[in-house]
Amino acid sequence: MELIVARNREELVKARRSGTVALVPTMGALHEGHRSLIRLARVRADQVVVSIFVNPLQFGPNEDFSRYPRTFDADLDVCRAEGVDVVFHPSAEEMYAPDRQVSVSAGEMGRIVEGAARPGHFDGVLTVVLKLFNLVQPDLAVFGQKDAQQLALIRRMVADLDLPIEILGAPTVREPDGLAMSSRNRYLSDEDRQVALTLSRALRAGAARLTPAEIRAEARKVLDEAGPALDVDYLALVDPATFVEVGDDYEGLAVLAVAARVGTTRLIDNVTLTLNPRTTTPA
Ligand code: AMP
Repeated sequence: MELIVARNREELVKARRSGTVALVPTMGALHEGHRSLIRLARVRADQVVVSIFVNPLQFGPNEDFSRYPRTFDADLDVCRAEGVDVVFHPSAEEMYAPDRQVSVSAGEMGRIVEGAARPGHFDGVLTVVLKLFNLVQPDLAVFGQKDAQQLALIRRMVADLDLPIEILGAPTVREPDGLAMSSRNRYLSDEDRQVALTLSRALRAGAARLTPAEIRAEARKVLDEAGPALDVDYLALVDPATFVEVGDDYEGLAVLAVAARVGTTRLIDNVTLTLNPRTTTPA
């Protein structure tokens, strides 16, 4: 089947076939991480829609909206190679009326951890994701664990607003050296890239420890070893569903998450662990 590019609601409706639909929302500059989401979508639904939209609402005034990589033609090649049925690629004008008023609030959960570092970011994410859900009307949607708080908030939105959509989380795809794949990695110089490896190294070191205090201390130690070249925003050990910091007696799944700037590039990463009073193992 020929790949269809839809740029508005009418074109989406025309492209719609019978059967189940999976949506994979992206901002483009597609890499192996995105491909893994698309593959999961393909095995789970009859028709796969990939949205490619750099959402202005989720960028702060001093963030990288204007320099975010835009590689639409290469993205179409990736989508063709992965057997995507429809690419939804709206303009900002198509998505946001100049007189728009109503948006989604991510609540308190959108103001902690990553949300504390990026005020308004998750409101912008949830607003665009709800709009994409309404436009595409998928049966299921796939998101990466790489953006663990985003995934948790989308599950929260689906529960709180009664959206009839199944949410699938997909594991983080990494480079062979451990660096989590990201559209922003292309901005890293060779030197930056070596520093950037500290994030995944710190998470692995933390995950090898047993108690929350030890996990935090060990990961922090590795981050500190990178010196001033790594500007750490936060290191957090949180409940994966709420993103609230876990206490020392916490048992069950936890997410160890980190955000840091390397040069002018901001990177995030996380790992999931199982905590219990006796043992801690990487999930
Ligand atoms: P983005 O284009 O960065 O907004 O990401 C679109 C989707 O791809 C989100 O659900 C991300 O969590 C997911 N994603 C980004 N990087 C990775 C990765 N390295 N592994 C798995 N999923 C990813």
